[in-house]
Amino acid sequence: MGTSFRIVLYAASRTQADPAAAAAYARIDELEQALSDWNTHSELCCAIRAASAAPGTAVAISPDLTRVLARAQEVAAASHGAFDPTIGACVALWRRSRRRGELPAPDALAAALAATGHAKLHVDPMARTLTARVPGMALDLGGIAKGDALDEALAVLRRHGIERALIDGGGDVLAAAPPPGTTGWTVGLAELALDPDRPPPVAFAVLLADAALATSGDTYRAVEIDGLRYSHILDPRTGLGLTRRILVAALAPDGATADALATAISVGGAGSAPALLATFPGSAARIVERAPEGVATCTFGRWPPMMPAPVDAPAAPDDSSALTTEATDGSAGTAP
Ligand code: AMP
Ligand code: MG
Repeated sequence: MGTSFRIVLYAASRTQADPAAAAAYARIDELEQALSDWNTHSELCCAIRAASAAPGTAVAISPDLTRVLARAQEVAAASHGAFDPTIGACVALWRRSRRRGELPAPDALAAALAATGHAKLHVDPMARTLTARVPGMALDLGGIAKGDALDEALAVLRRHGIERALIDGGGDVLAAAPPPGTTGWTVGLAELALDPDRPPPVAFAVLLADAALATSGDTYRAVEIDGLRYSHILDPRTGLGLTRRILVAALAPDGATADALATAISVGGAGSAPALLATFPGSAARIVERAPEGVATCTFGRWPPMMPAPVDAPAAPDDSSALTTEATDGSAGTAP
């Protein structure tokens, strides 16, 4: 998934903690193997290759791939395609553009767009199959797989009897029950980077318990072509990287939903947030958008109270704007 995962947990003993953490990391590895779009032998790549070689034919898929694709398709439908797991062909083309520093050729872009569109993919969660309606389709779960891995890693910890835990996957975080004597885990968030070459400092913190927080949008993985700055998140209507400067932090009861919502709102913009969030109970978002007139910030849903950043908070890690810090006594705010 191109990132690192970190688990913080409270356990009765090291004998309980070590096997629990090892099993959770192993589960993350397992999902990485199944859902990767980089590894051409992953289940994701093999299944969609088979499906798009024979459009209209149902291909059997595993429970893991079914679960993630089903949620991805839900967010795709609710966001009117702003989030789209079938964006793979466009992403492949865009990665080449980034390397070369030039926009895709029009005919190649048109072919990739023809193979893109969530309505051209059918996922049957009961039969556990996927069907492509067009040839040449490629899937990309980069906008949701990290969040799902957080959910699955937490499920493993719970099976080991661990309830108080926080899992961080490259800045997307999932909190279970808070540390003893507190009401939440302190999660620091950075602001929109005004200097693209330097990670922004942590600006504020929220308390998180039994919820996931994912950030998306403004990125150090942006590329400049002909003087325009493009994000690694693509607009499925154009097949090109976003040019709007936006930073989205999305809150949801689970990691997969938070991850996908943050990516979807990055594409759709603040205007798309109210209707989208209304579809997913318990979700909220904070959006920072930079326009020529200045920087606009808004929150939707039950966004948690914001506290000052811890004084010793380091700068945001590469490629993310959220990072976790140590638990506090929870006196500075309330858990969402
Ligand atoms: P995130 O960092 O969670 O916002 O996810 C970004 C990643 O999702 C990209 O690196 C692509 O792999 C993938 N992606 C890009 N654009 C989209 C999109 N419009 N819908 C879904 N996934 C996307
Ligand atoms: Mg995402």
